[in-house]
Amino acid sequence: MTSRRLLMLGPPGAGKGTQSARLAEELGIPQIATGEMLRAAVAAGSEVGKKAKARMDTGDLVPDSVVIGVAEERLSQPDVAAGFILDGFPRNRAQAEALDGMLPKLGCTLECCIVLAADVEVLVKRLLKRAEIEGRSDDNETSIRNRMAVYDEKTAPLIEYYNAKNILVEVDGLGEIDEVAARIAAAIG
Ligand code: AMP
Repeated sequence: MTSRRLLMLGPPGAGKGTQSARLAEELGIPQIATGEMLRAAVAAGSEVGKKAKARMDTGDLVPDSVVIGVAEERLSQPDVAAGFILDGFPRNRAQAEALDGMLPKLGCTLECCIVLAADVEVLVKRLLKRAEIEGRSDDNETSIRNRMAVYDEKTAPLIEYYNAKNILVEVDGLGEIDEVAARIAAAIG
């Protein structure tokens, strides 16, 4: 099997984490989730965590220099040779360009950018429900609305960025987890 180098894009709550974890498991490749890595850094009280916490709590993006460092470090680990799925990185154009600079050093290119499309109001409801279950410190309505606005302004333009590279596939992210997973599988072949 050839190694897969995938990127999952989509608004907060669209199921990027769930679908990425599932794909990673099925394909035997690591899921690289910057949000998870940053939450771990906050929990550990590391320097990265200290720089990230306030921005994460308000739903703003953590500074590019911090996130790009975290992503680059993770992408330099040997398990990435098997392929990878990026989940939550890049989130703006500067990060996408930084990633473009990293991949040649790894001797690979991005193969496919999967966009999970979903209605914003459905997502806000979904995230509020997750807030009750998981108690994430950024899952309150103010932060959720801000994360949606940040997505629209900073991250959504990446759809065009990857479309221009001819690696974009858009998948309807609404529905049962299994249904969405089947759509993704069909879309990436
Ligand atoms: P997530 O788990 O992907 O929803 O990310 C949670 C939070 O972590 C985001 O709201 C941001 O504050 C921060 N974060 C995660 N990934 C990035 C990134 N690539 N760039 C900037 N901030 C990020």
